[in-house]
Amino acid sequence: MKLKLLFLTILNSLAMIASPITTMEDEFNTPTHNPGVAQSFDDSVKVRSIYNASRTLLTDLIHTKLEVSFDWSNAYLIGRETLTAKPHFYPSDSIILDAKGMEISKVSMNGIDLIYKYDDGLKLKVKLDREYTSSEEYTLIIEYVAKPNERETSGSAAILSDKGLYFINPKGEDPNVMPQIWTQGETESNSVWFPTIDAPNSKTTQELLITVKDKYVTLSNGDLISSKKQKNGLRTDHWKQDLPHAPYLFMMAVGEFSIVKDSFTKKDGSSIDVNYYVEPEYKDDARAIFGETPAMIKYFSELLDLEYPWDKYNQIVVRDYVSGAMENTGAVIFGDYVYKDSSELLDNNDQSTIAHELFHHWFGDLVTCESWANLPLNESFANYSQYLWDEFRYGADEADYQAEVEVEGYYQSAAYQGYHDLIWYDYLDKEDMFDGHSYNKGGRILHMLRAYLGDDAFFLGLNRYLTKNKFTAAEVHHLRMAFEDVSGEDLNWFFDQWFLGKGHLILFTDYELNEDGNEVILNILQRQNKEDFPVYRIPTEVAIWTEGASNADIHKITIEEVSETFSFRVSEKIVNIQIDPKQVLLAKVFEDKPAAFFRHQFYHSDKYRSRKVALERALSMHCDDPKDLVLDALDDKFWEIRASAAELALRYGLVNANAQMQNAIIDKLENDSKSQVRSAMCAAYTATDLSLDEKLQKLKQLILNDPSRMVRSNAFSSLVDLDEGAGLAIARSIQKDAGDDLLLTIAEVYSAVGEEQERLFFEDMIFNQSDKWQNEGEVRMMFYYITYTLRQDIGLRKKLPEVLNFYKKNGGSYVKMYFSRAVQYCISSLQEELSMLNSDADSDNKDVKTLEDLLLELGSITENE
Ligand SMILES: [Zn+2]
Repeated sequence: MKLKLLFLTILNSLAMIASPITTMEDEFNTPTHNPGVAQSFDDSVKVRSIYNASRTLLTDLIHTKLEVSFDWSNAYLIGRETLTAKPHFYPSDSIILDAKGMEISKVSMNGIDLIYKYDDGLKLKVKLDREYTSSEEYTLIIEYVAKPNERETSGSAAILSDKGLYFINPKGEDPNVMPQIWTQGETESNSVWFPTIDAPNSKTTQELLITVKDKYVTLSNGDLISSKKQKNGLRTDHWKQDLPHAPYLFMMAVGEFSIVKDSFTKKDGSSIDVNYYVEPEYKDDARAIFGETPAMIKYFSELLDLEYPWDKYNQIVVRDYVSGAMENTGAVIFGDYVYKDSSELLDNNDQSTIAHELFHHWFGDLVTCESWANLPLNESFANYSQYLWDEFRYGADEADYQAEVEVEGYYQSAAYQGYHDLIWYDYLDKEDMFDGHSYNKGGRILHMLRAYLGDDAFFLGLNRYLTKNKFTAAEVHHLRMAFEDVSGEDLNWFFDQWFLGKGHLILFTDYELNEDGNEVILNILQRQNKEDFPVYRIPTEVAIWTEGASNADIHKITIEEVSETFSFRVSEKIVNIQIDPKQVLLAKVFEDKPAAFFRHQFYHSDKYRSRKVALERALSMHCDDPKDLVLDALDDKFWEIRASAAELALRYGLVNANAQMQNAIIDKLENDSKSQVRSAMCAAYTATDLSLDEKLQKLKQLILNDPSRMVRSNAFSSLVDLDEGAGLAIARSIQKDAGDDLLLTIAEVYSAVGEEQERLFFEDMIFNQSDKWQNEGEVRMMFYYITYTLRQDIGLRKKLPEVLNFYKKNGGSYVKMYFSRAVQYCISSLQEELSMLNSDADSDNKDVKTLEDLLLELGSITENE
């Protein structure tokens, strides 16, 4: 599953959502997570106060056949399950199934009713007709009604709800949302719509017969083996998957989707469906969104030397989805944020998420983590697949850049939520497993392991792990043993510190030369918090560049102590020394060396992160010829360095250093092929000493003509920074003919500088054109309105409760998520204003009263929530 990290992006970009999140951790005094930490009874024995074991297998599921139909108006599923199972080892005369909030009408076997107990609405306990041994299969039939909306549900930040089965707009009351049904199983929610052993270490083959009105399309796991018209305009689709998978991967979706067909040809020449299920209006965008999928299947199959194992690979986009995306076997669900037109796709695409879910079909679906504590066996690999795809498709720089974003995600998540072992046996809630450790950190750990073992051993190790454990559940030791098998090395040291330990490395280095100048001494200090984090064993490299040499000398070292010194012979003057030149360590590294060394590193390293750090450090340390350095960075082969160069030119006052610099900025602003770079140039361009008129003209041209939304929006805010009046005038002049995305930018401008008359624009956008705004766009419009309104005279705020009530009633799932934060933001802003008024003797009593009334009204909006 991929989380809706999108929200973080929105959060970051909406400055007005005053969030208390601090991103800098206290490096040397790191918080520890949760009370489950080991308690010592004596020095040698440690006992966990909490241990989340894998589910004990009393019964093995063998085959699950479901026949389902729907009562759309009540949001019920009417089901009949034919379940084949057997005792796992010990003979048994009963079976216990997870079944959440159902109405069970009958359980039978060979036509005879069985006795069952179902008093807690959670576990269905069935007494079989006799005792069975582990070599005897039995089949029972359960007739039931699933009522997902009548259960008390909960959720988490990662997966917003555990309802399992979702009826979206089932009565068609909302004309803007296509009625649909879909499911979300992970972690243990599929037992809301069929009785099963809802644990990741249980596996079963599957059949699903879905009866719906003929106008609907259905999707489930496996092959569609028949589709039969019934009486009364109904149709039954029969989906069948002959390979076993875990119950949380079962999936079903129903709606009037369009199917855009694609395919993948396996090595043996056979072909499988790779179809995209989208709402009809997105039919033409589907290939632009998902079109790389067949190439990804091919690449991952080759990399793992293991053919894609399942019958097909279909992807579907649903409304009001509760997470980012989910790797249901062969039938992956995405939230509707992936709907993007060609202009949006210029700025960003969802290939990382597509790769992530696809890679799960080996790591997660084929071999499944045996318990949620072992979730990194699913998620770290899916996370790392994003790196693998970027590396293959876009090159190492892009992959390394995205890896930096991921590692930052881990640092932030850990600083915020605390540190824990990657394989986290003592979590408090299984949903907590879906965090920056299991995903981001795990991905970086796999990258380190790959660097340590080498590509051949690493990928062969993955193949060994997958082939040895296919169609079963695994724990972290299976992974270790696969790598040990292949490499011949005992890898407990690596797994202990990275998979079974917590934290990350913080390294400080400095260097000195001996008196004769022919030996360089490198001092290395591990400065992570030693109370909670281990002293790591770190095999790595040191690169030493000497004058005149075209390549660095590479020295292999292993750091094992808190403080260590390594010395190396050098025959020429050294011009740079760098630890971890391949940039693979999960580490914050602080190298104490001269600016000239960093300058040299920028020009001579071939790794993105080395070069980025070198550029920043060289400039901050006032290296020689900073102008040339920035000019070269503006012309770098990798877009992110070019974009950073613009920001650095601005930060170090180099924008007008010479005509060359100015020309380079203008050239990149107009002609760079990456929208991120053109976008980054906007602010630097406004700082040039060209005439105000010229700058306003050029920015206006960009606002009207650049194909990228990001550039248009950034050009607009740069223009407003230059001249608020001009920005407002342009916004007003283009408002009437502006396309939808430009309207959002105009709203952003008005939120910052709009005057009283702009109220009509906002009211039109919100009340009359609300169907234009969905997801992030809808949240943005709401917050732009709020910011705008809070800037106006007190009298103009009266519309605020009406607008908020409108969003409360009509807002989509994104608004729901941000709504109370929005109201809270209004309340705290108004309270602040009120206390200022109260402390001001000259203030108008009428204003005080207006604010007090408004606060009361806003308070009642949240109360009724
Ligand atoms: Zn995932």
